[in-house]
Amino acid sequence: MIPLAGGSRDWTDTGRPLHDPDAVRVSYSRLEKLENCALQYVLGEELGLEDRAGYHAWVGSLVHSLLQECEDGAIERTEEALVAAANARWRPREFPSRAVSEAFRRAVTDRMLPAWAREYAETPSLARELRFEFELDGATVAGYIDRVGRVQTGGTIITDYKTGKKANTAVPEENLQLGIYYLALNAVPELRGYLPVKAVELAFLKERSRGMISRAQLPLTSKVAGGYESGMRERLRELVHRVRELIANENYRPNPAANCFHCRFKPLCPMFPEGRDVVTSEAAT
Ligand code: SF4
Repeated sequence: MIPLAGGSRDWTDTGRPLHDPDAVRVSYSRLEKLENCALQYVLGEELGLEDRAGYHAWVGSLVHSLLQECEDGAIERTEEALVAAANARWRPREFPSRAVSEAFRRAVTDRMLPAWAREYAETPSLARELRFEFELDGATVAGYIDRVGRVQTGGTIITDYKTGKKANTAVPEENLQLGIYYLALNAVPELRGYLPVKAVELAFLKERSRGMISRAQLPLTSKVAGGYESGMRERLRELVHRVRELIANENYRPNPAANCFHCRFKPLCPMFPEGRDVVTSEAAT
């Protein structure tokens, strides 16, 4: 049984545990929510109430597919070919209005794809949408890496494409997603061919820096790499431990220090007026 966030009521009891504690499986998107707030995590990731659809998600998915197909050779590695493919696949019905559809279409065809072509078209990746799975403290950590590229001086660079705003994303030093990707390349024997990783980066396709794509990079020199790896491993270990704790006690509480800006669960959250009980448990007894 799961006590509700404020601890005042019980949720529906299915008579079965929500999870098998011996088969913990995590990914960046799940852990990102957990780091922010346990209540947001259980509602969105465990109970599946997060609405992943919507036009922002559709645009992100379209751009990622186009770039992958371009890297795979199915689309020519030119701005013109990418833009033509985006226009051909554009679906105005995904958007709330024609004006919104056009604004996003222009962002993709005038900014994101041309910027990607300028930055990456001449240097094919070593891998894209690279799937991984590794074990950490008995849990399975899984995901996909957007891109692994070659560094001219030797080694590789891990890239994660972002189609959203830079302001909403943690800097590379603190970015758990990049940290998980770095650990994955070092942990999975089949992926060791991509070592040594010399840098990790976030590529903000919509934003410009001196006329080029805005890329936030963390160079991993031999001086930095050890501390980066151990710091990210500890952070991941702590999160896996929290997942296990939550499975054991099923006590998912809101975090008063959470970033609630993008959380869709305010109507269910006792931290917000719309989520509070209309009748308090004291009054109800
Ligand atoms: S509104 Fe804030 S505190 Fe409440 S569930 Fe969402 S992230 Fe957590």
